[in-house]
Amino acid sequence: MPSYDYDLFVIGGGSGGVRAGRLIGAMGKKVALAEEYRMGGTCVIRGCVPKKLFVYASQFSEHFEAAAGYGWSVGETRFDWPTLVANKDREIARLEGLYRQGLDNSDVEIFDSRAVLVDDHTIEILKTGQRVTADQILIATGGHPNPHPALPGHELCISSNETFHLEQLPKAIIIEGGGYIAVEFANIFHGLGVDTTLIYRGKEILSRFDHDLRQLLHAAMVAKGIHVRCVEVIEEVKRQHDGRLGVRLYSGDELVADQVMLAIGRTPNTKSLGLDEAGVELDELGAIKVDEYSRSSKANIWAVGDVTNRVQLTPVAIHEAMCFIETAFKNNPTKPDHRQIATAVFSQPEIGTVGLTEEEAAKEYREIEVYRALFRPMRNTLSGAKDKMLTKLIVDAASRKVIGAHILGPDAGEMAQLLAIPIKAGCTKDDFDRTMAVHPTASEELVTMYKPSYRLVNGERIDG
Ligand SMILES: Cc1cc2nc3c(=O)[nH]c(=O)nc-3n(C[C@H](O)[C@H](O)[C@H](O)COP(=O)(O)OP(=O)(O)OC[C@H]3O[C@@H](n4cnc5c(N)ncnc54)[C@H](O)[C@@H]3O)c2cc1C
Repeated sequence: MPSYDYDLFVIGGGSGGVRAGRLIGAMGKKVALAEEYRMGGTCVIRGCVPKKLFVYASQFSEHFEAAAGYGWSVGETRFDWPTLVANKDREIARLEGLYRQGLDNSDVEIFDSRAVLVDDHTIEILKTGQRVTADQILIATGGHPNPHPALPGHELCISSNETFHLEQLPKAIIIEGGGYIAVEFANIFHGLGVDTTLIYRGKEILSRFDHDLRQLLHAAMVAKGIHVRCVEVIEEVKRQHDGRLGVRLYSGDELVADQVMLAIGRTPNTKSLGLDEAGVELDELGAIKVDEYSRSSKANIWAVGDVTNRVQLTPVAIHEAMCFIETAFKNNPTKPDHRQIATAVFSQPEIGTVGLTEEEAAKEYREIEVYRALFRPMRNTLSGAKDKMLTKLIVDAASRKVIGAHILGPDAGEMAQLLAIPIKAGCTKDDFDRTMAVHPTASEELVTMYKPSYRLVNGERIDG
């Protein structure tokens, strides 16, 4: 048996890499981990966590407005962007420290450097030029925002990365993209008082989500004052004499803004990583090709998380890492399960969703029942807020199983997390009906929609 410096070398200190490194280190294995930027990866440093803090900040403008209906007089309000950024930075630094401490506690050796593969067992630490060897290698290098090099003026644009450190809050921003990151940032900036335009090339924002969620959120965003322009593309961005950015659209319209943000997808971090030298194959989109167990084309090299471009979410990267640990270090081959992943869009109103959309279910099942309630949540009655709430369940008529749940409204993300449990467990609509409601809540609708709003048989809608 050849001997190696480490049992496992992890490249990338994000959601997937840190989880794998920490738990395998705690098993008494010799583990090293290299991180080229900041420990915690995208989620902690420039993704989920700082974004959610910005979401909270952006919600206060609506809270202040709503307060009047409940008898409160809120005095003059003022928002200070540098304070938000500084407080967010402090929290991120705290979390980064916890990630590092977790690795230290598990005796994982940390290299604060970029690392690349030299061959299938050798890794080079670029900062020092040191070469180390490992029996098993885990690549968890994540991804980065697509910089859209084909767009004239793309170098003037920012991505989600830069939004977290803007020196000034722009007066006007144009965001290109229709995925959850674009939509969330449109809501964040609008809530902070920025004149916000969302440009999306598709017919409707948030493709792959249930059509009701897409349309209702779009309408709610427009009603709040966000300019949403679908079937539209940015063709050129130019710096004007006054320092602002001039944007020419496909339609010929010209817009002006202080910042243009591109959120048009993320590219796996596989460039200049030595993958060729190690014999690791990529797919046509540049992601690492893995089998059902997250093993690459090289038997001792594994990959989890965004670098494999399966489902780009933190809990998915962590789940894949947990399965990798079982497979590679516990002699218990375990495949990640990518079905029924609950997810949220932290828009205003929020989206929470799990399982199949109505469209997917209609294709997959002969007959489905759709239970749908669109109503004004109680909290919006006295406040006068216009936002409606949607609760929607998709049921397979033959087995009675609930196969999809879609919510738009306050705390929808929290509800999706809880709904994921009965849906994963295969509960039926009758189980839902047998469950007593919690009253008065918005989520009680989920257990009180007794009659289907409509059915789809072989994809055809039958009302009643
Ligand atoms: C703006 C934004 C908001 C998001 N919001 C959510 C959300 O609300 N919920 C959710 O579930 N997901 C969200 N995500 C997605 C989530 O952040 C990612 O899916 C998750 O971080 C992926 O984890 P990972 O371990 O694959 O990679 P990452 O967390 O990206 O970590 C990869 C790490 O590898 C490092 N690295 C790369 N190459 C090297 C190298 N050669 N040597 C050393 N280090 C290297 C990088 O610096 C990075 O720290 C969001 C993402 C973004 C961008």
